[in-house]
Amino acid sequence: AGIRKAAAVGGGVIGAGWVARLLLNGIDVSIYDPDPEAERKVSEVMKNSRRAYKTMVPDGLPKEGKLTFAKSIQEAVDGADFIQESVPERLELKHKVLAEIDKHAATDAIVGSSTSGILPSDMQTAMKHPERLVVGHPYNPVYLLPLVEIVGGKLTSPDAVEKARELYASIGMKPVVIRKEIEAFVGDRLLEAVWRESLWLIKDDITTVEELDDIMRYSFGIRWAQMGMFQVYRVAGGEAGMRHFIAQFGPCLSWPWTKLMDVPELTEELVDKIANQSDEQAHGLSIRELERIRDDNLVAIMEALSRQNK
Ligand code: NAD
Repeated sequence: AGIRKAAAVGGGVIGAGWVARLLLNGIDVSIYDPDPEAERKVSEVMKNSRRAYKTMVPDGLPKEGKLTFAKSIQEAVDGADFIQESVPERLELKHKVLAEIDKHAATDAIVGSSTSGILPSDMQTAMKHPERLVVGHPYNPVYLLPLVEIVGGKLTSPDAVEKARELYASIGMKPVVIRKEIEAFVGDRLLEAVWRESLWLIKDDITTVEELDDIMRYSFGIRWAQMGMFQVYRVAGGEAGMRHFIAQFGPCLSWPWTKLMDVPELTEELVDKIANQSDEQAHGLSIRELERIRDDNLVAIMEALSRQNK
């Protein structure tokens, strides 16, 4: 069973991405965002997402859902069987907004939160029907990247997790249910490790942000995209597979190089350095232009991979 009518609460970078994915899958969406600029921002994301979907579905898209801007959370969630919350990452705001959604939404509607790291158990305390809250953590751009990490809290029912899995899959996503509740879930923990290492490499002038990005995208970035990490190293181990790989590289893996370095504090000086190098790297391209380049690349990679995985 799919989504009949969806509500989006919060329409920033992530909320607008959800709106685009839902509309382009033919689902009507009602959105609430108090920012007077929200309507313009959502329409720009819609422009980019339509353009990206057109290349993926050259024979024509399904009829787009209808978008309504609501004046309150109450109005937005009225009649919705799926609600996705994407407000700024502050616990007290999440509590306030989720309590309001909880008060007005149908009791059997699924409520997903886009939070990047807050535990669902910490968010559902303000709800009368906490059993239908799940974290549904997406990746930007939500309208293209398939992964959604589903995390249930202490009070979430197994039924809600299962239903959320079906609903997210019905809009073309790859849901992965995280087995145990943990801060930052799984994907962002891996990204944080890479960030930590990158910070000191840049601070100590070992590399610039542009060189670091090249090192990533011309090598393991492509490898990860097509097979992930473990399967790639299984192959790298030769005919004896993973056991041989670990026998060979285990000593380096259990002695992380970072133990030898100080992980730097994110000082103003370091932030300036990263941001200035990033400005240079962009060669004057605007964020919207970079988004279009990103989307074209993602569509091309995903199309190539879907041919392989058939
Ligand atoms: P954002 O600042 O771009 O958007 C937040 C939006 O929420 C704004 O448009 C704001 O006007 C709106 N808002 C504020 N108060 C509100 C209220 N009371 N009711 C409704 N809307 C309200 O932030 P974002 O990057 O879209 O992040 C939103 C959520 O998604 C956060 O929980 C974040 O952790 C998560 N997330 C972000 C990313 C990312 O890459 N940016 C990725 C995955 C998850």
